[in-house]
Order: sequence, then structure tokens, then C-alpha cells
Amino acid sequence: MGKGKLMKYELDVSNRLKNLMQLAAPITVADIEASIKRFVLNNREVETYADSTGYDLIYDGERYPPKAIFGLALSSILDEQIHSYHFTGGLGSECFKVLTRLNFEIVSKVGRPIKELGLTPESKFPKETRKTKRPMIIGDIPGIREGHYFKDRKEMMPSSFHRVWTSGIDGNGKQGTAAIVLSGGYSDDADYGDEIVYTGAGGNKEGKQVGDQTWLQPGNAGLLTSMDQGLAVRVIRGHQHKSPYSPKSGYSYAGLYRVVDAWQEVGNEGFRICRYRLVYSDENPDRIPSDNTNLEYLKKTNERRAGSILRLVRDTKISKSIKKLYAHQCQVCGTAIRTKNGFYSEGAHIKPLGRPHDGDDSVDNLLCLCPNHHVMFDKGMFSVDDDFTFLGDAEGRLIVHPNHHINLENFKYHRSSHGYD
Ligand SMILES: [Zn+2]
Repeated sequence: MGKGKLMKYELDVSNRLKNLMQLAAPITVADIEASIKRFVLNNREVETYADSTGYDLIYDGERYPPKAIFGLALSSILDEQIHSYHFTGGLGSECFKVLTRLNFEIVSKVGRPIKELGLTPESKFPKETRKTKRPMIIGDIPGIREGHYFKDRKEMMPSSFHRVWTSGIDGNGKQGTAAIVLSGGYSDDADYGDEIVYTGAGGNKEGKQVGDQTWLQPGNAGLLTSMDQGLAVRVIRGHQHKSPYSPKSGYSYAGLYRVVDAWQEVGNEGFRICRYRLVYSDENPDRIPSDNTNLEYLKKTNERRAGSILRLVRDTKISKSIKKLYAHQCQVCGTAIRTKNGFYSEGAHIKPLGRPHDGDDSVDNLLCLCPNHHVMFDKGMFSVDDDFTFLGDAEGRLIVHPNHHINLENFKYHRSSHGYD
């Protein structure tokens, strides 16, 4: 998205185009017609533009969303992708002025032409009706770099940087999470710079936990989706968040992070909370790591990355020994997967490595699993009781070799992390 390319335009603090009328001056009738054709060819979809809510552009008896059509034309003449959040639409907007100047007809959704509505632009329209739902944008937003300072939450709205005032998480289970704000609302949050342990949403009143959190809460579900799909999440630190990395006032953009782990635990205030581990994505090559200890940690986490899928598959001496012990047979289903160069299995840590879990990389914390059961186990779809019987989405008992001594505390930790205890 517009990375490293010289912009032909300037954006203001709200990420809106400066001098829009000037930029749009070269747009001709033919440009608009070409945009309409492109729009139709594109199945009437343009990235970041929602369908029109209040008005339609009429062309050849058909209705089109004026803002998207104008945006396509502007993108074409500037040879840059101009997004919906770069300018406003609606009555009295510069976008509408350009279209009507070119003699295109714009009508309200109820069918009356603008001229007949007899309204002075904007004045008779309550603010709510002019508002359109801002699109969710995953990843970087052009013009807003790491370290960007926001005076307040309101400043994050026009660019869709973080679209909800009242919640720390801008996300949902369907689309994932675009951004989170750390604002000191949860006493359980922990910030190590390049690694953040974040508490989910829900059950919180004025900074105090008064009830349990669930994975069904939209923001919490959104972070799970981001983890499953390897989507980058924008992290924003607020001045209220107690961390050496927080700004003294306002909010600062900490960069893109990835969600690498999710679990439940009982928080400081005695309620069940959803927790996530986020690690810095390394998307900014110029970035100075937060401090030396984190630098070392970062190296460790780097080793675990495999493309956009962030599941940890370690092959240490210890995991090799456990795979050998079981001859690559999954301890859940007994399958050993045959590949071109021998059998394949994965060493699965019962209590995860890394903060805040700090599980041991040792045989008593490892299982030999097939990839499917590894994923299911890491995501807590099943767990194991002290007598090795399965809980959740697995039936029967764990296969345990007589020489494999598992520390039962680790299963206990896994059970409580995933709601089995
Ligand atoms: Zn299996």
C-alpha cells in the first residue's frame, strides 16, 4: 500500500488530501465515464469504498456510488491509489462539486435531484446521516508512520486508524483486528516493548474487572482471527498506559505487531480474562529495538517465524529426542505421517515457551504430535487430564511411552489456559 513511492499529493493531519479541488481540476467527463466502466468491470467494488449511503450518481439510467467513481478517476489521473478516507463525499463536498460541475446528475437515494432538494449544503443534514461507516484497514495506513503522534482518540478516526472511541480493540471475528490501544484500562497488561501481553475486552468497568471475559466478544474474537490468519495489528500506546514506551501525553503509534498466542487465565482481580501475546512484526527496517534485553528476545522470536503463519515449530535436540521416542507417532491419534524423506511429526510444548508462560523447553513439557493435533492442542481445542484422558475435541487417552515423564503441572497450566479447569 503506497510504500516507498513518492506521493504526488500531500495529506493533512487527518490523512485527508490537501488541495483536492486543484488535484481534481484535470478530471474530464471522459475520466468519469472510464471510471464507471472500470467500476462495473470490477464487480462494483472498490477497495476501501463502501456502497453509497445517501446519494447516487446517475449515468445511462444506472446508479453508481459518486464517491467511489470520483475516487477511481482521481486515482487514475494521479496514478496513485486514492482511498475513501482521503477525502469526503456527500452534499457540499468537493467531490460532489466536481461531479456536478461536469454535469453529472447526482440524486438522493429517495430519487430527488440535489437541485430540487433545496438545501444549502450540509446545513439541513444532521451529522449522523452524513456519516458513513468507515472501512476497516488492516496493516499500515499511508502517511502514518511508526511513532506517529495523535493528540487524542478522535484524531485516529478519519483515517480509519482506530475507528472506535469506546473500545481498545478495533476488530471483529469476521475481519480480524485492525488496531488496539493500550490505555491503562487493564491492570494485567504487560509491555516489554517488542513484546506485549494484552488483555482482551469485556467485564471491565472504569478500569476494574467486574466479570469474566469471553472469546465471543467481538474485539476478542477479532484478535483470534488476526492470529489465525497472520494479520498485522496496529498497536497504539496511550499516555495512561504504564510503560516506559508510552508517550507523556496523547497517543503514539508503536507499529505493526502480530498476535502469536491467545489463552485465558484468572486475572489480578479474580475474573477470567482473555490474554494475547503480540510481538513486533519487524516491518520497519529503520526501527531501533526498545532495549538490549528485548533485542535478544526478538532474535529468539524471529527464529520461530515461518512466513505469515506464526505457529511455532521448533526442532531442537529435545524435540528430536521426543520424536525419536515415539517414532513420529502422534500421541493423540497414533498416526505417523510418511514424507519423501522419512516420517514427520512436531514437538508440541504443553506450557508455551516465551513470556508470560515461560514453559520449559524440556522433555517433560513436550508432546510428539501430528500437525493437526498440534494446532488443535495449541489452540486449546482439547486438553489432557492428569490421568491422560482427553478433554474437549479429542476422545480417549494420550499415548504415553513408559520412558516419557510428563510434568503434570504443565497439563494443569494448559487446562486453565483454555477453560478446562
Ligand atoms: Zn494426531
